[in-house]
Amino acid sequence: MNGITPNPHFPVNALLGNILETFLSLNHEIDFKNAILSGLSRKIILKQSDSRIFNVAELDFENRINVYDNFCQFYWCICYTSILFYDKGILEKLQTEQFKNHIKLDTEELKEAYEVFLAGIGLFANGKPLTSRSKFFELPNPFNNVKNDYVGFANAVYCYGMTFILFHEYSHFTLEHIESTVNNEKEADSSAFWTMVLGIDEEKEKTAVFGILTALTALIFFDSTLSGGLSYPDGDDRILDVLLNIDSEYDNYWGVVCILIKMWAFEYNLDASFPIVTESDTWKDYSEVLFSHLRTLKDNKKNNR
Ligand SMILES: [Zn+2]
Repeated sequence: MNGITPNPHFPVNALLGNILETFLSLNHEIDFKNAILSGLSRKIILKQSDSRIFNVAELDFENRINVYDNFCQFYWCICYTSILFYDKGILEKLQTEQFKNHIKLDTEELKEAYEVFLAGIGLFANGKPLTSRSKFFELPNPFNNVKNDYVGFANAVYCYGMTFILFHEYSHFTLEHIESTVNNEKEADSSAFWTMVLGIDEEKEKTAVFGILTALTALIFFDSTLSGGLSYPDGDDRILDVLLNIDSEYDNYWGVVCILIKMWAFEYNLDASFPIVTESDTWKDYSEVLFSHLRTLKDNKKNNR
């Protein structure tokens, strides 16, 4: 990885240098040196992929961290859309009492943010046409179309989210995990979370926590089940584990997670049965109702098998 990207494969690849810088700045120098001495490769490999998303990142047999750029592009897209939806589609409308449970696409900015979401989701194997790479260069993006402040907000959150993914893989190495198990994955999430949160400057903490939460929520978009199978924790459980570690009254953390889960539900036609947001709710209160609903969805799926 390096910061020079004159002609990136996906626009999001222009942020590689920033991610690496963040990763190195939050790493304990001595731990990192020891990891390298114990065999971790210094190289982080960016896998350029023109196919559909099938992987996020992995530690390979040569102890190199691999990251897949089609997932990265998708993840940037949902950072952009969720932040803009939350700010312009909900918070701004709550002030004038125009928000009625659903985000209305009544401005060009909101419509375009929805297009960014559709383009990103079009990289998954979801039966819809695969989004062409050129589409991402036409829409708002960090490389050639920095058209509003939300691109910058999305970039910042995205870089911390990708840093979390790097720390997750790095933790598999330092914790000497030899395979993916539910416990190992939870340990890697927890180690990555605490490395970042304990190492970050106070003024950057909120952005970093948004990064961690959005990165974990991005993982549920692979399918409609939330299931982690035998080797991974369920997607909703991974998000909840982080939320439980956050001792904060900053309700926007819960807000952005709720929006992302609603976007996921929308993609998989599950949103009709979703609980309604009422005016008295804080996002934290609403998220409790939402996560309990997700548990019911999972139980129903299991019972129908
Ligand atoms: Zn893992």
